Amino acid sequence: MTLKAELLARIAASGPMTLADYMAECLLHPRYGYYSTRDPLGAAGDFTTAPEISQMFGEMLGLALAQSWLDQGAPSPFTLAELGPGRGTLMADVLRATARVPGFHAALNVVLVEASPTLRAAQAQRVPHAKWADTIAELPDAPLFLLANEFFDALPIRQFHRAAGDTWREVVVGIEASDLRPGLAPPAPHAPLDQRLADTRPGDIVETCPAAAPIVTRIGEILAAHGGAALLIDYGAGPSLGDTFQALENHRFADPFANPGHADLTAHVDFIALARAAQPLCATSAITPQGRFLEHLGITPRAQSLAPRLSGPALESHIAAHRRLTHPDEMGSLFKVLGLTPHFAPPFPGLIPDHS
Ligand code: SAH
Repeated sequence: MTLKAELLARIAASGPMTLADYMAECLLHPRYGYYSTRDPLGAAGDFTTAPEISQMFGEMLGLALAQSWLDQGAPSPFTLAELGPGRGTLMADVLRATARVPGFHAALNVVLVEASPTLRAAQAQRVPHAKWADTIAELPDAPLFLLANEFFDALPIRQFHRAAGDTWREVVVGIEASDLRPGLAPPAPHAPLDQRLADTRPGDIVETCPAAAPIVTRIGEILAAHGGAALLIDYGAGPSLGDTFQALENHRFADPFANPGHADLTAHVDFIALARAAQPLCATSAITPQGRFLEHLGITPRAQSLAPRLSGPALESHIAAHRRLTHPDEMGSLFKVLGLTPHFAPPFPGLIPDHS
């Protein structure tokens, strides 16, 4: 059996499935899911993320988290959590960079929210003292300092084409000549998109990520009740407009329907929707470009202080890594950072404050 055969049988029996159901099966099917069966990161995998590009990313984030923890009176104990930690590289760099912040390590409990058993094993190598959780619902009632890098882009999306009047046609996955193919469901109103009728026209494509808002709400509730901060980092902007559903295989774009379970499927993150979910509960930063955020935190002096220890190809790759993380033509402006803090806490270091 393959995932493709399983999905073809399921669609033959019960009709076309939403893109969100398709994406969830492709990524996290217990037997055939993309994340369930492999470590997709790095040069030998399908994509490379910021923590895998340079240790400086985790160092900047770690020291900023520690500063926010100090700003809030160094609460003890607290939860240091990460959503979708990949290989555990980011958390390992955060822990290394904060080892000399007095009291920080003695107060923290690391919780990694990870669905994939394969990646949990990789994380255990790098972060031996961590605990694991299946979902954010399991985070304890305690001050929470949380990171999520390239987590929200992996959450399943639904996609809608605006049709005539106030209706939408949802993209659904069906069968065409024994292959999985996308098609459009009949036009119907979709209440969660009512507010998008004002800023879209027939023909426009809008995506929603039903799982995202409940996660942000839970983070906001914990921050409001116990203090802490959350940094959500990803590519995208918002409000959602256009088709951003994509498949990556061997660092190249691929057909998302050709080989289910073998390609990474993602969509751009609608940061406006994330901020809106958080705002009833806590303060949100402006949606800050990653490059500006890392520059504010001092990544350039850090890069300069590391450079004299390097030479030849290692120095060249260090300089390239700094550029890749910060330059607007690379990850610097496509990637955004949204910070959440309790209303009673100072704003998060390095982020542009929100004046809206
Ligand atoms: N943050 C890492 C990895 C990003 S890849 C980095 O920057 O390198 C996405 C990560 O999210 C993987 O660890 C994947 O297994 C995890 N993931 C995806 N969907 C998830 C879900 N619904 N619940 C928990 N973890 C999930």
